[in-house]
Amino acid sequence: MNRDFLSIVGELSLAKKILVVGHIMPDGDDISSVLSAALGLRRLGKEVMSGIDWRIPWYFYEFEETNLIKSYDEIIQTGFQPDFVLVLDASSPDRIGRFQEFLKKINSAVVDHHGTNTLFGTLNWVDTKFGSTAQMVLRLNTELGVPYDGRLATINLMGIATDTGFFRYSNADEIVFSDATKLVSMGGKSYLVSRIFENKRIEQFKLLSTMVEHIQTENNGQIVYSYLSKKDYESNNCTEDDSGGFVGELRSIQGVELAIFLSEYEHNEVHISFRSKDWFDCSKLAVLLGGGGHPRAAGCTLKGELPVIIEEVIREAKIMYDAQLKALEGVH
Ligand code: 5GP
Ligand code: MN
Repeated sequence: MNRDFLSIVGELSLAKKILVVGHIMPDGDDISSVLSAALGLRRLGKEVMSGIDWRIPWYFYEFEETNLIKSYDEIIQTGFQPDFVLVLDASSPDRIGRFQEFLKKINSAVVDHHGTNTLFGTLNWVDTKFGSTAQMVLRLNTELGVPYDGRLATINLMGIATDTGFFRYSNADEIVFSDATKLVSMGGKSYLVSRIFENKRIEQFKLLSTMVEHIQTENNGQIVYSYLSKKDYESNNCTEDDSGGFVGELRSIQGVELAIFLSEYEHNEVHISFRSKDWFDCSKLAVLLGGGGHPRAAGCTLKGELPVIIEEVIREAKIMYDAQLKALEGVH
């Protein structure tokens, strides 16, 4: 067993007050990981608080336990003084927002599955072989002796399901299926996980339609991109939370290898999501632009005017696409 894993289990066993932290712009894996760890550690009698320095997308409140995740300000107001910090699914310190402050004073463990992780904890268990961080939390909880019931199993399953696109992506391997089986055998219900995403507002379909109108293609349709401006969100009575699955829709288009979705979530602040189908390494492009992620799913955030950012990102994407394609063809 990995040495850092065992050291982290040791620290968590000793700790009495633990702060569990997730990343900004949280996704299903992050929320699942934070909740599974926080609920698990509570069951061991620890005093636990969990925090994310970002608004939680509304549809995650389908699981009422999401209310346990507090904002940075709420945690500061309680005066909570943790003796250990557990950071989940975050690849670099900037990804946890203001919670970085805690890492300056208190020992921490970073548990993550991103190859771009900068190993910023006191202890770091980073393993890209896992399709989701939720699977790593399952291992921590199991080693710590956390008792599972159907509820905790469902919450833990949510991260595996969402980070593998409900077992459709290339990261849905044998370990993913066997971990999911384990959670289902402990009472996890995948239909409850799907409910989070089968609860759409009609405005989200209108927003999707605006996104579809903006679709552009490059490289004979192998690169596809689209965008939504702050105005597009506002005129559809939506926020960036409502465009969660859009980049996946772009990738699903026939002949597309690289899909790019640019979302102006705040005026002159743009989040860019990259997704690829078979071979393009999105994480290299995201890192070049100051972000990170996985080979098939990565992202970054840029400040500036949307049209300028679109032009810059698409230019860099095309250059890297051609370079990676050339390298790939050189291999064959
Ligand atoms: P998404 O496109 O869904 O926001 O993110 C896809 C993947 O890239 C996720 O694994 C996410 O953690 C990572 N990612 C997205 N944006 C950033 C970013 O700004 N910095 C880093 N380091 N990773 C990111
Ligand atoms: Mn993840």
